[in-house]
Amino acid sequence: MRSVDVVIVGASLAAAAAAKRLVDAGLETVIIEKQTLPRHKICSGILSPRGHRFLLENFGPLPRVGLHEPTACRGVTFHFPSMVSMSMDFFGGTTPHLHRKYADHWAIKQSFAEVMDDTSFLSQIQTDDDVLVTARTRGGETFNIKTRYLIGADGPVSPVLRSLYPDYHKNIPMFFVGQKFHKIIECPLDEEYFHFWFNPDLGHYTWSHARDGRQIVGVGYKVGEKFHDKHLYVAKYFKEKHGVHLHPADDDHEGCSENFGPSLINRYVFGQGRVLITGQATGFLNMIGEGMSCALHSGAIAGESIVDAITRNRPVQELYRQNIASEVRRTTDQWNPLQIAFARPHEADFPKALAAMAMADRIKVMRDIWSFLKLYKEFKWGRQIAALSMQRLLHGDYSQKNWL
Ligand SMILES: Cc1cc2nc3c(=O)[nH]c(=O)nc-3n(C[C@H](O)[C@H](O)[C@H](O)COP(=O)(O)OP(=O)(O)OC[C@H]3O[C@@H](n4cnc5c(N)ncnc54)[C@H](O)[C@@H]3O)c2cc1C
Repeated sequence: MRSVDVVIVGASLAAAAAAKRLVDAGLETVIIEKQTLPRHKICSGILSPRGHRFLLENFGPLPRVGLHEPTACRGVTFHFPSMVSMSMDFFGGTTPHLHRKYADHWAIKQSFAEVMDDTSFLSQIQTDDDVLVTARTRGGETFNIKTRYLIGADGPVSPVLRSLYPDYHKNIPMFFVGQKFHKIIECPLDEEYFHFWFNPDLGHYTWSHARDGRQIVGVGYKVGEKFHDKHLYVAKYFKEKHGVHLHPADDDHEGCSENFGPSLINRYVFGQGRVLITGQATGFLNMIGEGMSCALHSGAIAGESIVDAITRNRPVQELYRQNIASEVRRTTDQWNPLQIAFARPHEADFPKALAAMAMADRIKVMRDIWSFLKLYKEFKWGRQIAALSMQRLLHGDYSQKNWL
């Protein structure tokens, strides 16, 4: 049986960042990916400035094939039911609009790790010294590989996480997000911005932006509702309220499950023993669903923690939890009302944009945000967020006690 230093499950951005650290340290690293590479990934592809810096510093300039049209995004525009809209530019200028299929594959190649695509992770068994991973090729061949450490960088429904905690996903709210692509008749939404609606009538997560000559209409809601009905309702609203005239949706619509929630309430999952969970599998997701920058950074920290554990002969979970605390702070700060009001945790300046508005519009925006937040009341996150805000204020950090 083959024996390696590290197996990473998933060939996405968290995996690329982890692999870069491990390969740079001279560790034999194998990435297994269930799809054929380069693989499609549903994503708006708006990389935050911090994520962009990470890519540049670690992998070099992005190739043109890794970008959609328009190639860059200037910032975010929020729209409210009272028909007030506010645009915020990203700090430091525009950011790239990634074509995930090619950008992810490029980053994976830049890590110089060995990649096995068309190969699915099935299960793992840990001993004191290693992890026995079972995987299956698309051709149906099942094989084992022995590794000193295993990283689950396998996204929101993470099979690696489930191999550790089989009931985890039953106990957190899962959301469905879906998008349809429309040829444009007339669209007054500025194509240099990502557009997001704080409107409880439209759903938990409603967005639109231009991509490769078409307009995306995206909807997000709790698992169980009907995608096509939701989408039609939102497209009609865009037409009536914003003058967005679109052709009927093309056939290539898509959707997936999202684990939105753990980063709001500091309930991250970092793994057990020699198995580390990273990226969105862990629960990292920034405001308005921006997950690439924290996937890159947490992936790198997972890789560094393994290098640290080997170099210092220490338990890897202890080091990972120490090292990841800074990323937890950054991500959970994005949802912390005190941080939002006083510390600018985002990469575009919401308080400044709000302050620039007329008082009457400010009141409308605050009222609309409040009624939007009530949509999330059933998840009982409000008190937990308030308690975490106080914890951060008094202790300067978030507690690790609820992490898995
Ligand atoms: C509609 C939508 C829009 C988004 N827009 C943005 C945006 O504009 N900006 C932003 O920053 N973020 C956005 N996100 C979030 C972002 O896409 C994710 O947070 C990010 O991709 C997480 O990266 P990751 O490396 O953790 O995992 P993922 O990108 O989810 O990758 C996981 C990988 O694991 C593989 N895998 C899964 N199971 C197995 C298995 N059993 N065996 C082998 N491989 C497996 C998958 O095929 C996949 O390649 C969006 C998400 C959605 C759904």
